[in-house]
Amino acid sequence: MQEAPLTLAGVFRRAERLWPTKRIVTAGRSGPTRTDFGSWAERTRRLGGALDRLGVSDDGRVGTLAWNTARHLELYFAAPCSGRVLHTLNPRLFTDQLVYVVNHADDEVVFADRSLLGVFWPHVERMPRVRHVVVIDDGVGEVPDDPRVVDYEDLLRSAPSSALDQVRDERRAASMCYTSGTTGNPKGVVYSHRSVVLHSIGAMLADTLAVSEADVVLPVVPMFHANAWGLCQAAVMAGSDLVFPGADLSPAALAGLLVDERVTLAAGVPTIWMGVLEQLRGRDTSALTRIVCGGSAVPRSLSEAYRQQVGLPILQAWGMTETSPLASVARVRSELAGRSEEELADIRASQGLAVPGVELRIVDPATGAEAPWDGKSSGEIQVTGPWVAAAYYDDPRSSESFAPDGWLRTGDVATVSPEGYIHLVDRTKDVIKSGGEWISSVDLENEIMGHPAVAEAAVVAVPSDKWMERPVACVVLRPGASLTGEELVAWLSERVAKWWLPDEVLFIDEVPKTSVGKFSKKDLRSRFADLRLP
Ligand code: ADP
Repeated sequence: MQEAPLTLAGVFRRAERLWPTKRIVTAGRSGPTRTDFGSWAERTRRLGGALDRLGVSDDGRVGTLAWNTARHLELYFAAPCSGRVLHTLNPRLFTDQLVYVVNHADDEVVFADRSLLGVFWPHVERMPRVRHVVVIDDGVGEVPDDPRVVDYEDLLRSAPSSALDQVRDERRAASMCYTSGTTGNPKGVVYSHRSVVLHSIGAMLADTLAVSEADVVLPVVPMFHANAWGLCQAAVMAGSDLVFPGADLSPAALAGLLVDERVTLAAGVPTIWMGVLEQLRGRDTSALTRIVCGGSAVPRSLSEAYRQQVGLPILQAWGMTETSPLASVARVRSELAGRSEEELADIRASQGLAVPGVELRIVDPATGAEAPWDGKSSGEIQVTGPWVAAAYYDDPRSSESFAPDGWLRTGDVATVSPEGYIHLVDRTKDVIKSGGEWISSVDLENEIMGHPAVAEAAVVAVPSDKWMERPVACVVLRPGASLTGEELVAWLSERVAKWWLPDEVLFIDEVPKTSVGKFSKKDLRSRFADLRLP
């Protein structure tokens, strides 16, 4: 067989040739902007030429600080197809972390939405390698008067078209992304052309996300968070229409896009779908066939609420920046399809089956032995595959995160059923160690969020003199609902083991969120750091 390299240039050329009329819609302040793959491809080629003109090194890092937009999609292809490395920056990182990742990756140029310049420009002097800042005008924000600053459209207008054929070696770096760094500085993961192409094919498989030519894909998950779960590249490869939410991730705006653009596949973290559900009440969602959700555990109650109201349960996926991220998807196996609705809901609340291409094992952290797939024994999930990182970029911490045979240690603890369904018990650092036993904060949260009065709940470990750690539940009530701690515990006592019952229930206004919209247990733990239980 021929050794044809798997490069994004091949994906780009196919899309340019086959799908010139496919839509790309970007929501904006004055309504949606519409373009198609034909003009996107033409502009992407000129952007490749612009990177040459700017003098970005042949393999230079191109930072982006941008929302999900058609212009960001131009960068998604122009940078890697011209040999450069796309580095998506998370605008919600703490300033020091943002400065750290720009410097660590050696970004030579940063393309920033005008609305996001404020988080970046004031610190630019701390990033000496950044020679150009290209401003993508999205309507608001100050633009500094400085020779380093260039307007995106001006740059493109005068740029020559690039052949975008600079990449021959499929192992060459295409893009990079840093984890959001819940502890210490973020760690960088570098994706190769080969890994991105294989991951895109992985997302198109019928038994995974089944991204196809007939789809209208709405990636709500930001393009700066784990590559928007690979959906942008997969959609370009498949020829799906793309709908981008821009800066407005409010439930009303997202629900409007879903309905108006007749989206068939939408993807985001659970907190997004919690908000959107109410907005979809009574609206026409008949085009929707997949609501993909991951990044943290999908509460069973949320998935069931979608099934009942929208007629479509949530399709849960599990993965991490290090796994590109798609690693497992909770499809119901055909031989289980006849189970009761209750059992099916349980299957969908699991993290699912490893996708083709990703191999999985669970390992007892104490002994290092592989645990059986019996649905009871738990251990750390370890994975391997062609789109799983082999190391962190230039980081001594790599050694802690990989097993001696190279498998990635995910830091997630899970059981696996005999059928292969992963049930994620917890992150290693969130699990509650009570008297020598483990309590799964994820399972407990899931049960609490099943209470009709509860909007959000996060369970954290609090030090206990007697038990080492005990669970404390932080609960946000639905507007207008009332519930006491005793009532909640009484309700829970019919659903979980007695020793799992939280020692305290604290009612709070909102669960703090991380930079990518997940519940931030780190923030909760520090907020209640003085709490001590008997
Ligand atoms: P960060 O580590 O910065 O949050 P990632 O997006 O890479 O960024 O997070 C990956 C982690 O998110 C996983 O290791 C896991 O703990 C959690 N996660 C992802 N998907 C799921 C899921 N479906 N259920 C439970 N946890 C999930």
